[in-house]
Amino acid sequence: MNEIRTRFAPSPTGFLHVGGLRTALYAYLYAKKNNGKFVLRIEDTDQNRLTDGAVENLIATLRWAGLDFDEGPEVGGPFGPYIQSEKVDVFQKHAHQLVQHGDAYYCFCSSERLDLLRQQQTAAKLPTAYDRHCRDLDAAETKKRVDSGEKFVVRMKIPLEGDICFNDLIRGDIIFSYKNVDDQVILKSDGFPTYHLAAVVDDHFMKISHIIRGEEWLSSTPKHVLLYKYFGWDMPKIAHLPLLLNPDRSKLSKRQGDVAVEDYRDKGYLKEALLNFVALLGWNPGDTREIFSLDELINEFTIERVGKSGAVFDVEKLKWMNEQHLRAKTDEQLIELVRPFLKEKNWDHFSDDHLKKVFGLMRERVTFPQDFVELCQYFYKTPHSFDEAAKAKCWTADTGRYMESLLERYKKLDSFDAAVVEAGLRQEAEALGIGAGKLIHPLRLALTGLSVGPSLFHLIDVLGKEVVVARLEFAIKHLTA
Ligand code: GLU
Repeated sequence: MNEIRTRFAPSPTGFLHVGGLRTALYAYLYAKKNNGKFVLRIEDTDQNRLTDGAVENLIATLRWAGLDFDEGPEVGGPFGPYIQSEKVDVFQKHAHQLVQHGDAYYCFCSSERLDLLRQQQTAAKLPTAYDRHCRDLDAAETKKRVDSGEKFVVRMKIPLEGDICFNDLIRGDIIFSYKNVDDQVILKSDGFPTYHLAAVVDDHFMKISHIIRGEEWLSSTPKHVLLYKYFGWDMPKIAHLPLLLNPDRSKLSKRQGDVAVEDYRDKGYLKEALLNFVALLGWNPGDTREIFSLDELINEFTIERVGKSGAVFDVEKLKWMNEQHLRAKTDEQLIELVRPFLKEKNWDHFSDDHLKKVFGLMRERVTFPQDFVELCQYFYKTPHSFDEAAKAKCWTADTGRYMESLLERYKKLDSFDAAVVEAGLRQEAEALGIGAGKLIHPLRLALTGLSVGPSLFHLIDVLGKEVVVARLEFAIKHLTA
């Protein structure tokens, strides 16, 4: 059997779209599962859409996600260059070869003429398509015009009637009528190929065995099938992935949320969570499992289990997955993720041991790594402001007095273990003849400034006697005033 070779072939528009990440992931999984190769190819032949740094950014984002490619820009490989703009001559040669064989033709129509044609067709409510004005120009005349330097494009000659049929690994057999296929431009007047020619030529010479791409390319496939036929090449197998949808089932768009992988990364989403999440947008394991590592995905992935219908991009689900993957991290991994956020606050002097205790109490309560700092400030510094609503609710006229006597009791404790401070608090409540809640809620407010948080007695254990005593003294003054 021939080697399985898949590719991710983005046009570098400036950022990696989450849909692109899913395409890349599926191509990666399919290759890895079958001991094949995953190729990155940059499709940058549209000179109007180039953005500075886009390729570097794309590669950096793929690497961040851990989708390492076996061949591609920067790593090289036997079928380079892997950046299409670096081999325009190859595409030109193939376009001219098609013209020589009578499968393509030079078209000299000006953009003014084409605009006018489009306007007329639109006004007449006809589909917009090239009217094949130059398709049957006399060969000698064509040569004269080309030789004289007149601007031209090269168009494919699409058969005037009949159907084209191909098999999609996800959708089964698909039939298009030639009548609905335009005489596609394959070489533009600037000498650059269009996507169609470049993708087909590259997929062939890069020995791609399986093309996995988004549904939006399905309507281009008849043209590609025909190009393979014209060149006399075998066509790779092909699979078109279902669309990604907004929660209202419209096509996933920027207007309804972030679409750039970088945006999710910058917000604190873990690569594991993002990959797990996009993996399940269209694919399912056949049972109810939802949490997968990249290695597990490689093991489990099959194209047969990719569906046809659009998949909703639900950010709440993604958040949940982030929580699951964050919880699964070891303390050491978390320390690495959290330290940069501590540095930003100048709280980097806290020991790994202290951090581990914070993780112990907060692991189940956070969504993002930075939450271990942002939502946990009271583990690192004394609160100087207190939740007003909580204060109104739990700090009554007697609370200052109650807290003073709890403080005196705590000052005498030798051990500050959770069990010891809890017992101390309950004894104090009894001595005062009040319910324990009358101490617990104000104590939490005093120590954290907040009304909710982790187990209070364990928190006290982590903070230690010195900090607790100091905070309580400060809070009593501040809250009783
Ligand atoms: N260059 C196309 C894109 O930007 C790739 C389409 C394909 O995979 O054939 O998505």
